Amino acid sequence: MLGNDYESQSCSIAGALEVVGERWSLLIVRDILLGLRRFDELQAHLGIARNVLQTRLERLQEHDVIERVPYQQHPLRHEYRLTEKGLDLWPTIVALMKWGDRYAAPEGGPAVLIEHRGCGGSVDEHRICERCGAKLKARDAVGRPGPGASPNHPLLRQAEHTQAA
Ligand SMILES: [Zn+2]
Repeated sequence: MLGNDYESQSCSIAGALEVVGERWSLLIVRDILLGLRRFDELQAHLGIARNVLQTRLERLQEHDVIERVPYQQHPLRHEYRLTEKGLDLWPTIVALMKWGDRYAAPEGGPAVLIEHRGCGGSVDEHRICERCGAKLKARDAVGRPGPGASPNHPLLRQAEHTQAA
């Protein structure tokens, strides 16, 4: 029988895919890294059914990849943040992104570029800043809209907010 899991595979890659291998799961992690933290923001950007998003978020919480944190008391509202375990997926996301930039980028180029926060240098596939040479962690990096970003990409909207503020 072909199941939904890889339990018969004694391999760490299979184990990791058990946690983040479902359709959308890594894209949810990506979006939270990019700064989308609220259910409605994630739903709007991913364009998936609310129940599917809900199921994926719950599964990522069960695996302690993300946590649900209140950001407002009246009325009570929650947002999603990556745990340390979730932040440890950042190297994987960067590696996948760089592979995608090379072999599967959208027409017009990458939608997102990774930058060293506060430095502005671009980040290579080894997570090293090409300007200052620092080896970066997730919190040192920030996503910027790339040449292939669609006009409604959330990073472009964030940039507008920043300029308006
Ligand atoms: Zn730098």
